[in-house]
Amino acid sequence: MCRPHHINGKSRAVAVGNTPLGADYPIRIQSMTKTDTRQVPATLEQCIKAIDAGADYMRISIPDDASLKAFEQIKARLINGGYTHPLVADIHYRQDLAIEAAAVADKLRINPANFANQAGTHVATGNTKASPTKTRAALRQELVTQLEPLVAACRKHHTAIRLGGNAGSLTGQVHRKDPVHTLVNENLDYLDILESLCFFQSIVSVKTSSPAETVTACRLMHHNMQKTGQRYPMHIGVTEAGMGVPGRISSALGTMPVLMEGIGDTIRVSLTEAPENEIRFARQLIAGASGKLTHHCNTSFHDQRLQIDCDLEDRDSFMAALAYEWTRFEEKAAVRQLCIRALHPANRDLEAELANNIMQAAGMRNTGTRFVSCPACARTKADMESLCHTFSRELGHYPGVSIAIMGCMVNGPGEMADADYGVIATHKGKVNLFEGRHCRAKHITAKEAITHIQQRLRQSAPDHNK
Ligand code: SF4
Repeated sequence: MCRPHHINGKSRAVAVGNTPLGADYPIRIQSMTKTDTRQVPATLEQCIKAIDAGADYMRISIPDDASLKAFEQIKARLINGGYTHPLVADIHYRQDLAIEAAAVADKLRINPANFANQAGTHVATGNTKASPTKTRAALRQELVTQLEPLVAACRKHHTAIRLGGNAGSLTGQVHRKDPVHTLVNENLDYLDILESLCFFQSIVSVKTSSPAETVTACRLMHHNMQKTGQRYPMHIGVTEAGMGVPGRISSALGTMPVLMEGIGDTIRVSLTEAPENEIRFARQLIAGASGKLTHHCNTSFHDQRLQIDCDLEDRDSFMAALAYEWTRFEEKAAVRQLCIRALHPANRDLEAELANNIMQAAGMRNTGTRFVSCPACARTKADMESLCHTFSRELGHYPGVSIAIMGCMVNGPGEMADADYGVIATHKGKVNLFEGRHCRAKHITAKEAITHIQQRLRQSAPDHNK
């Protein structure tokens, strides 16, 4: 019988193509394409731009057979062009596609909650309500049987697997109430199952769209793996962080604390922007977490007022340096006012916005609408960047209100349930509108959805009637 080589301390090394991760390897930086994968030239272009910006891995969504064929072509063209960087196949729901992709991709990303007929969710939590006649042991065995062919394919082709848990895909009130423990327990169960199938090339992630929850989940996962000696490499990042300054600050506050503790073997900053933007900011976060930017900052605290001065010109470096200073400041609970001073004129316009965003992401102030938006991938047919700009322009000034903007239903259930309002892009510029978990309208325009939300906000709080 195979036995895992359990280790203490560092994470184990896992081979991903020619760029392993874990152990003493540098933190690997990755992004994901946002094109329709079947559009080979456009997807290839996004890969090359991100790799040129410093990506170690590129992930590509494979929702159907045609996309898998395109993935093969993209890989071949990249290699022909001298780009031998590992490619990751992102696959939801379809085990048959994942088995085929294992022969081509260097790593697969699957989501425990939507793979293998959703048995995983029930196994991990012991919640057999959805299948009341089955015991937990029976569900676990069912899952082992379902995963066996995929694991065999991955072992045969030396393909790693990321167990890509995501709070947005959790369903059921029990799970939603405690996404952190649900995600961690699911991943621990899945690691056990893969080990029982003699598979040890796993990577884990426990992402949520809340920076604080993400940090807690990463610490708990790390702690549990330390206890059992399983120490698989961790992929870190805040999911559906949004875009622009709020997206970067949310990502920074959800990763900087764990990076500074030495947790995290690969990072993805999930922005509703071009992949190369994610790579540039991820690089600055890693530099910031290692203290490389700190000599550009000066921090003082007096009368509950924290002031951080920073002389950096590059905007991403500036934001990463501030996130580092904020994270390492130990008396955060006593801060009533955060004042940021950009000593370089290039960033003066960011001072107030950054201070507000840091306080909001830290849960210490409510200065505007909280947006959660997915970064987009091949599954969405909408221009997510422009959709998010429209919603943020029209609905950005409602403190205490949260709006989720998603490109498809993969992570929709959880995000819709947690937000006051949600929109899911359908096709031809139309969206489905949700209030909490209830769908209120289907295939309406973004403008109609915005008007509906504005009306509801006026009804629920006269203060919003501005
Ligand atoms: S929610 Fe967005 S990023 Fe996630 S699978 Fe759907 S379209 Fe892709």
